[in-house]
Amino acid sequence: MNFLTFARICKELEGISGRLDRISFLSKAMEECSVEDLPSFIQLLMGRPFPDWSQEKLGIGPNLLYDAVAYVIGRKKEDVIETINRIGDVGSAVETLMAGKEQMSFFQDELTLSDVHDALITIAGSSGERSQRDKTRMIQRLLSDASPLEARYIAGILLEDMRIGIGEGTIRDAIALLTGTDPLLIEHGIQVINDIGQVAILARTNRDALQKLTITLFHPVRMMLAKQGTIGGALTGFGSVIAENKYDGARFQFHTDGNAGRIYSRKLEDVTDALPDVVSLLQEAAAGHTVILDGEIVAVKEGRILPFQNVLKRFRRKHNISAARDEVELVPYLFDMLFLDGDTLIDSPFTYRREKLEAAIPRFVAPQITGSDKDTIELFYHEALDAGHEGIMLKNPGSRYTPGVRGKDWIKIKPEVDTLDLAVIGAQWGEGKRAHLYGSFLLACREDDRFLPVSRVATGFSDEHLVWLYNELNSSVVRTQGKDLFFEPRMVFEIGYAEIQESPGYETGYALRFPRFIRVRDDKDIDEVNTRSDILYRYFQQGRRDNNAC
Ligand code: AMP
Repeated sequence: MNFLTFARICKELEGISGRLDRISFLSKAMEECSVEDLPSFIQLLMGRPFPDWSQEKLGIGPNLLYDAVAYVIGRKKEDVIETINRIGDVGSAVETLMAGKEQMSFFQDELTLSDVHDALITIAGSSGERSQRDKTRMIQRLLSDASPLEARYIAGILLEDMRIGIGEGTIRDAIALLTGTDPLLIEHGIQVINDIGQVAILARTNRDALQKLTITLFHPVRMMLAKQGTIGGALTGFGSVIAENKYDGARFQFHTDGNAGRIYSRKLEDVTDALPDVVSLLQEAAAGHTVILDGEIVAVKEGRILPFQNVLKRFRRKHNISAARDEVELVPYLFDMLFLDGDTLIDSPFTYRREKLEAAIPRFVAPQITGSDKDTIELFYHEALDAGHEGIMLKNPGSRYTPGVRGKDWIKIKPEVDTLDLAVIGAQWGEGKRAHLYGSFLLACREDDRFLPVSRVATGFSDEHLVWLYNELNSSVVRTQGKDLFFEPRMVFEIGYAEIQESPGYETGYALRFPRFIRVRDDKDIDEVNTRSDILYRYFQQGRRDNNAC
């Protein structure tokens, strides 16, 4: 497919608002796409150039893109930034800027979808000292061959922010419509191989193989997630529950083929090199098996569990790993098994997976109890809190492992604290001695693929936090408007608050009363922030609570 055709499809999609119309349009567009182009078509449309299991990353900040655009149009970077600020959207601004360049070009190579995808692979693969320069050159080359409309979407792809609102759900339904496949089968395929492009190929060419997909070792699978709930609710829902401690550490997935072992974080990043101690513990425990294990790693010092930040520090560590290893001991707790000696286990009931886990792995399996008596579970909960755990997890004994799903089969029980995880989408400069740093931050919840502002937060930060946040966020600024700066949404804050109030001042229609920064949630992806419906739910719950108190 020509990249221009792809760009026109993107443009047209921007003008279609109904979900069903988008699905139908997309399925027709996919029909015109060759089977080989299908994965690139899908990945680029979502603004996620590589399959989710892949470790490839573009590593391009807005500044690198602005430099390249400035070079290609022969203007100063400041002009580029000024146009972006004026227009408010990077893609449209790049299109406008490039429109001036068109008359200056003497020749243009016609770009294809695979040209662009190949360039992205090369960009992701460039590393070392010269990588920034090499990346800028490659982007310059791409943009020089692009028409203004193509450049608009190249910019979106490079910043992984297409602004056309196409998420995985829409693509899944379009593949289903195109191929006459049950959307649940498509969903299941994505859960198993974590690669929507390959699933699309199979749906189109080999439905039988789609039905029989198995997990691929060393392609991390998305983690199953939990919903907040109550002990009573879980007992009513499941009858009998399996209860485990909720460990305050970091989630991991371990893959081994009996020789090599690799560890992936909750965001599916390969963190093997940072955790050689855990790798060797798990290699030993899993000796003789090919397995994928799911669990939580906690940090321990003198027999006490340390706060989860200590584990995250180790996950992120790139240098002096052996020194860090001596400071805190890391212990894995295993609570699930997804794959054992060639068999994909995710569709088997939890009790079966657990039996297999206990039989195959002699150490590190997290203890659990099973029961249907509320008092027993409540006692277990209080013991867990006394032992320094975050709470407990209640699991449905008969449930499948559903990768990436925050469903009703895992219920987390924690002491009630009113906090929300929100995306950091903007900031304002501080005042006085904090004038060179950001002083307050604009926070947003999610609604479908959009981020809607819901609060500003200015309290709860130490000076060190603010310096760190400035350094982290500084390269994510996409535009400024007076005192306000806006970021590409990448970072998640956990925010405490006293109450949710109705407020016309924010697009969500709600605001937080007394918002307070608690911590950065490095373990959460930006699309895992709380949604507008979570906020609405809490707002109404709060009303109920207040009425009951009267
Ligand atoms: P939250 O991050 O609050 O949504 O809680 C879910 C997280 O709790 C999971 O992603 C795990 O990292 C963590 N966790 C701790 N203990 C367990 C357990 N026994 N089973 C499942 N998840 C657990």
